[in-house]
Amino acid sequence: MTALSPASRTAAIETMAAGPELDVLVIGGGVVGAGCALDAATRGLSVGLLEMRDWASGTSSRSSKLIHGGLRYLEMLDFGLVREALTERGLLLDRIAPHLVRPVPFLYPLRHRVWERAYVGAGVALYDGMAYTSGTARGLSGTGSSGTSGTSGTSGTLGTGSSGTGSSGTGRGLRRHRHLSRRRALREAPCLRKDALTGAIQYWDALVDDARHTVTVVRTAASFGALAANRVEVTGFLRQGERVTGAAVTDLETGRRFEVHAKQVINATGVWTDDTQALADTRGQFHVRASKGIHLVVPRDRLPSSTGLILRTEKSVLFVIPWGRHWIIGTTDTEWSLAKAHPAASSSDIDYLLEHVNSVLSLPLTREDVEGVYAGLRPLLSGESESTSKLSREHVVGHPVPGLVVVAGGKYTTYRVMAADAIDEAARTMDALVPASCTASLPLIGADGYRALWNQRRALAATAGIHVARVEHLLNRYGSCVFELLEMIRSDPSLASPLPGADDYLAAEARYAVTHEGALHLDDVLTRRTRISIEAWDRGVACAPTVAGLMAGVLGWSEEEREREVSLYLARVAAERESQTKPDDDAAEAARMEAPDIATR
Ligand SMILES: Cc1cc2nc3c(=O)[nH]c(=O)nc-3n(C[C@H](O)[C@H](O)[C@H](O)COP(=O)(O)OP(=O)(O)OC[C@H]3O[C@@H](n4cnc5c(N)ncnc54)[C@H](O)[C@@H]3O)c2cc1C
Repeated sequence: MTALSPASRTAAIETMAAGPELDVLVIGGGVVGAGCALDAATRGLSVGLLEMRDWASGTSSRSSKLIHGGLRYLEMLDFGLVREALTERGLLLDRIAPHLVRPVPFLYPLRHRVWERAYVGAGVALYDGMAYTSGTARGLSGTGSSGTSGTSGTSGTLGTGSSGTGSSGTGRGLRRHRHLSRRRALREAPCLRKDALTGAIQYWDALVDDARHTVTVVRTAASFGALAANRVEVTGFLRQGERVTGAAVTDLETGRRFEVHAKQVINATGVWTDDTQALADTRGQFHVRASKGIHLVVPRDRLPSSTGLILRTEKSVLFVIPWGRHWIIGTTDTEWSLAKAHPAASSSDIDYLLEHVNSVLSLPLTREDVEGVYAGLRPLLSGESESTSKLSREHVVGHPVPGLVVVAGGKYTTYRVMAADAIDEAARTMDALVPASCTASLPLIGADGYRALWNQRRALAATAGIHVARVEHLLNRYGSCVFELLEMIRSDPSLASPLPGADDYLAAEARYAVTHEGALHLDDVLTRRTRISIEAWDRGVACAPTVAGLMAGVLGWSEEEREREVSLYLARVAAERESQTKPDDDAAEAARMEAPDIATR
């Protein structure tokens, strides 16, 4: 299967620099930009995708990781958004990424006896009902292409149980909600304080490793011919009069500057949207502001529960989300106007989450229980004058000047729809007829054959000579690409060893991250290809030298470069720890910025 390797990156850069005009150039390698590249490539367009840091290094590795309609938006009566997102949830679970997206139950503790059960129960019933009927929504009938289409969209059935997994019709393995008495709820979630609830409702949603999913979208786009290069920054736009005709870019690995020509450039830069617009000297039709959300990671055994939790807060909701051998607790929602690359979690952010989650726990969590912390920035739309947050999770596509399309807002779950809308807009101005989006029926790399391989996991483990638990871990991260990892292990059995201090992961995964998943730096592997930086107590300090050693061979690092990678990573961990002791955003940001960024070689 196509790999994102150092060689493929060099080839993509050479091809783009050589100058043939692309149909589409996408700026931004978060999930939306990656989705745009995949959408364009699979409509038969030539496309380039540029990311200035690592794939998913912006918001797309820092979310709550829920693939959901959002019960909260239902309360805001945003039925269209909820339905659209639930359709996407079903598609991702059933067809697009069954190896990466999985169902997860949430318990909603009720505090009031009658009215709250009726109110929340009606909402959750509507949520399930919308998911059940969303098979006819746009995800399955094409993207409603804006008149550019020469072909009709895909057709099919969504979650009718035809996947043979006992699905309720809302996506593989998702069950319908159920009402629980207090006693039953406490059996599901013994971590809850008895007096914190009068009963509960349990419903199902879905979960994804966001960074892993985004890199898989990039890799799938590359398999359809997209030219993908990370660590390439767009520094300006090429213009012919008013029209944008491409971008001036810098390869941050080598310092080389070159131009990329394209019929349409797509600005998919999330919270950097306004900065990117400014490079084109255009006033956007809308603006994107950043709101910070942080998450804590705590050990699974610290909160005995067989289900995730959703808790109401004064402003929003707080999730306790099962994450392998951990729980993720989040999130906050505060204005952020400081540096966007490394948003910092402050001590008050951490206190806020602990205080809220502790209000329902029988054994409160303390700072000592926190294994990892991460912060992300929501790209929120704000019009010229609007001040409501209602618009905030919806997306917009604009065409501020000829040749430049901008797509912003939305949420992780709806990336595919955002991408299809952006490419529809780009295609609208092209001379040739462009087919409609086909991504609703397109499995990502690793999805094909995943379920069969899952059923065969014991035989796979026996053949490979590794424990079945390891095979399960690999299947849930790589799907049918598991064979590439097993082949690596076969030819070098030392790669079957677990990483020191992060023994959920095998050495082979660090090597594979470089050879197949586009990792160029130690931080890429420890933070996004694996999640060691938030899952390990020491945040990856112990395994950093080993991982750097595994990467060095493939990337041709000298001893000095290897040491530099390790010291940069250790400095980052130290700066983050320090920032998390600071009382406010300014002080936390100052502490975080003490660590140098990955620099040009
Ligand atoms: C705390 C939090 C929790 C969330 N939880 C959920 C959730 O549970 N479910 C859900 O559906 N959504 C969730 N979201 C929203 C979701 O994560 C985002 O909507 C989504 O990840 C945004 O993706 P993006 O591609 O637009 O932006 P990004 O992922 O930020 O990508 C933009 C990319 O552009 C690159 N870039 C910028 N400028 C340039 C340039 N000049 N040249 C090259 N590259 C450039 C950046 O480096 C960056 O990687 C959450 C968000 C946050 C912050």
